[in-house]
Amino acid sequence: MNELRCKVLVIGGGPGGYVAAIRAGQLGLDTILVEAGRLGGTCLNVGCIPSKALIHAAGAAHGLRAPRALDAIGLSIGPPKLDYARTIAWKDSIVTRLTNGVGVLLKKAKVRTLLGTATIVDGKTATVSADTGETRIVAEHLVLATGSEPVELPTLKFGVDILSSTDALALTEVPQSLAVVGAGYIGMELGIAFAKLGAKVTIVEALPKLLPLYDPELTQPVVRRLADLSVETLVGARAIAHDNGALSVAAADRKERAIGADKVLVAVGRRARTSGFGLETLDLTMSGAFVRIDATCATSMRNVWAIGDVTGEPMLAHRAMAQGEMVAEIIAGGKRAFDHVAIPAICFTDPEIVAVGLSPNGAKAAHGEVRVGHFPFRANGRAMTLQDDDGFVRVVARADNHVVLGIQAVGAGVSELSAAFSLALEMGARLEDIALTIHAHPTLSEAFHESALAALGHPLHI
Ligand code: FAD
Ligand code: NAD
Repeated sequence: MNELRCKVLVIGGGPGGYVAAIRAGQLGLDTILVEAGRLGGTCLNVGCIPSKALIHAAGAAHGLRAPRALDAIGLSIGPPKLDYARTIAWKDSIVTRLTNGVGVLLKKAKVRTLLGTATIVDGKTATVSADTGETRIVAEHLVLATGSEPVELPTLKFGVDILSSTDALALTEVPQSLAVVGAGYIGMELGIAFAKLGAKVTIVEALPKLLPLYDPELTQPVVRRLADLSVETLVGARAIAHDNGALSVAAADRKERAIGADKVLVAVGRRARTSGFGLETLDLTMSGAFVRIDATCATSMRNVWAIGDVTGEPMLAHRAMAQGEMVAEIIAGGKRAFDHVAIPAICFTDPEIVAVGLSPNGAKAAHGEVRVGHFPFRANGRAMTLQDDDGFVRVVARADNHVVLGIQAVGAGVSELSAAFSLALEMGARLEDIALTIHAHPTLSEAFHESALAALGHPLHI
């Protein structure tokens, strides 16, 4: 067996692991990254990027089929035809470009990359089995970045017709009918995309509302859009089994009903990848099913670090990346802690939802009296010119000193406003800071400016 020695061994090449390795390499730390599948992990291969590619393609196809919107701008075209195999090939080409790019970045940072499954021997040693044989790696620091995998339901095991998100993103044709179990991030994003691609979609959610993570005011425009797309929704409902093209569901009234569904997408959450590779041989303190970490991503074992989905919610690529960068800097001797004011959350539904910091209710519970300012996109010129003016920006601030506690928005393209929202919170902005900043015209960001003015009691354009 080959033996390699290094300062930092990163297990997992997703956004957490590859960023940790790149930063460690940049800082001059001798680093090895081991990846069992493809560089880029869930995010680049079967998550963020392919899902957003599909959402874009679905939006384009649907836009061409929206006669009223096209007619309004004087555009008429023949019936659009979608070659879905080419859509998938295009999506895959973006994935390949990005994953190859990660390999180049790792090389540039002088990181040694091994493709194979790492098995942990102890807190400093792992073996890797690859096509080229077995390698033993001894490291001073071990970074666990093994990510997560989809959860299946006992009566709906993944197979030909029961799909995980990975399977749904790899379909080669659009199903005629699709039942989506779980109205969280994945169910709603992909459910809407497949409805736009022409599938008859039904969404089944166990809790009493869709997208339970977000407050009802934020999800209302999405619920309206689901109705426009003829997506049926069943909340407070439980999927039972799939047989003969039908999904049986116990509805909120406890009555059982059958939903026509060629395929079923099960999107009821993801679990940490913690077994099957020797992790249990380490004496790690767990937090439920996740690896417990402190504010520096240190685990209960010295020089063993954990980042990303394996450490629990929120399971977001940008959190994993921020943790990875931080851990590399700490190993290099830097003084860092994960003490961000907020981690932005975006749901790429139609319309998109952004939430940064506290909601009005959360802010009230934590800080007492608050000011809330809203500005609707129907009063925003840019939204009108984009033919999509449903939604609003909402800002929440302390009533006493006007320090901003949370910013949320729902509307077409609002994901791109998230950076301004996060920056305002990280910089400790007050309402006046936003109100006194010139926001370019005509942009959606003017609604952010106006929401701060509204919270101060003097909006200009409503
Ligand atoms: P992962 O990306 O899961 O990477 C872990 C890697 O470790 C994998 O490549 C795996 O092969 C490897 N590995 C595991 N065990 C071993 C081993 N023993 N040896 C070697 N390698 C191993 N997040 C967002 O922020 N925005 C989005 O829009 C978004 N969309 C998503 C859409 C979908 C459909 C899904 C499923 C997820 C989405 N996410 C999104 C979540 C995001 O993908 C994850 O939060 C992110 O990928 C977590 O990064 P990670 O590095 O912790 O783990
Ligand atoms: P999720 O936690 O977002 O949603 C799961 C939903 O399934 C919840 O609403 C839950 O109430 C429901 N549910 C659970 N059991 C059920 C059952 N038996 N029947 C019906 N409904 C049931 O999980 P997800 O959508 O699978 O996504 C997994 C993770 O991936 C998320 O936590 C998120 O962090 C990440 N993700 C993020 C994005 C993004 O940032 N835009 C996109 C996709 C995924």
